[in-house]
Amino acid sequence: MLRDPYGRPLKSIRISVTQRCNLKCFYCHLEGEDPSWKDEMTPNEIQKIVSIAASFGIGRVKLTGGEPLLRKDIVEIVEKIRNVPGVEEVSMTTNGTLLSKYAYDLKKAGLTRVNVSLDTLVKEKYRQITGADTFDSVVSGILEARNAGLNPVKINMVLLKGLNEDELFEMIDFARENDVILQIIEFESPYENEMYRKYHVGLDAIEELLAKMSERITIREMHHRKRYHLRGGGEVEVVRPMHNTEFCRYCNRIRLTSNGRLKPCLFRNDNLIDIVGPLRKGATDDELKKLFLEAVKRRKPYFE
Ligand code: SAM
Repeated sequence: MLRDPYGRPLKSIRISVTQRCNLKCFYCHLEGEDPSWKDEMTPNEIQKIVSIAASFGIGRVKLTGGEPLLRKDIVEIVEKIRNVPGVEEVSMTTNGTLLSKYAYDLKKAGLTRVNVSLDTLVKEKYRQITGADTFDSVVSGILEARNAGLNPVKINMVLLKGLNEDELFEMIDFARENDVILQIIEFESPYENEMYRKYHVGLDAIEELLAKMSERITIREMHHRKRYHLRGGGEVEVVRPMHNTEFCRYCNRIRLTSNGRLKPCLFRNDNLIDIVGPLRKGATDDELKKLFLEAVKRRKPYFE
C-alpha cells in the first residue's frame, strides 16, 4: 500500500473529466481548478493514468467536474476505467440534470454508485443557487439512478446559512422516502472571504441533533466522516472539512485535474504535477509511475 510522507495510505483518485458545467452554483469551488484550464483528457489518457494509480493499489475512482455528464464520451470513460485491473469501484458526483438519460448506460458500463448534488427541495431556492430551472430533471435523475441499480445513491447537500439550513428535516424525509442517503456537506473554502462569512454554517448543532435521532453512528474510513443511522430508517452522512485536522488526517485520495495534472490537495495549486503532458510525449510506464510517486510525495495535510 502506497503511503504519503505523513503515513496516510492512498486508496482513491478523484478525477475531474471536464470544467464545463450547465449550472452556475454560486458557491462552487470548481474542485480547486483554475477556470482558465480548458484542455481535457481523452478516455484513453484517463484510462492510462488510472492504470498507473491502480498499479500502486489505488482501487477506487470518483469522477467529477464541471459536470461529468456533459462529456459525450462519459460512458466510454467509465467503461475504460472499469476495465483497468485493480479498479474495484467507479463512482461519480453529478448535478443530476442529465442523469435520467445516462443512468442505465452508466450502470451497464460499470459505474457502482452516484452522488447527486441537490441543496434544496424548494424550486425557487434551487434557481437562486444554481441559476437554472432544472430541479425536476434532477429529481427524475435521482429516481432513475436508483431504478438502474446504482447503489448507494447519495444526495449531496451543501449547507448554506440563511438559504437551506432550515430544510434538514424535509431533506431527511425526501431521502428516506426515496431510499437514498443524505450527505450534508459543510461549505468549504481556502479563504475566509465575504462569501464564506455570509454562507458558512458550522455543523455542530446539526450533528448533535442527528446523534439524538440515531440508533447508531458509524465512522467511514475516508476523512473519518460520521454516518448517522436514524431511528425509523434513513442514513445521513456529514462531511466537515473546514479546520478539521481529522478530515485531513484520514484523507486517502489524490486528485487528477481536467487538464491532466496530479493534484495532491483540493485547496492548493502550487504543487501540481503534469502527467498528461509527458504521456502525450510518449513517456514510459516507469516514467509515469515516477511522476505519480512525486505527486504522492507532495501530499501534506492542509489543516495540520
Ligand atoms: N457538477 C457535479 C456536481 O454538481 O456534483 C460535480 C462537480 S461539484 C464541484 C462536486 C461537489 O462539490 C458537489 O456536490 C458540490 O455541491 C460540491 N461543492 C462545490 N463547491 C463546494 C463548496 N464551496 N463547499 C462544499 N462543497 C462544494
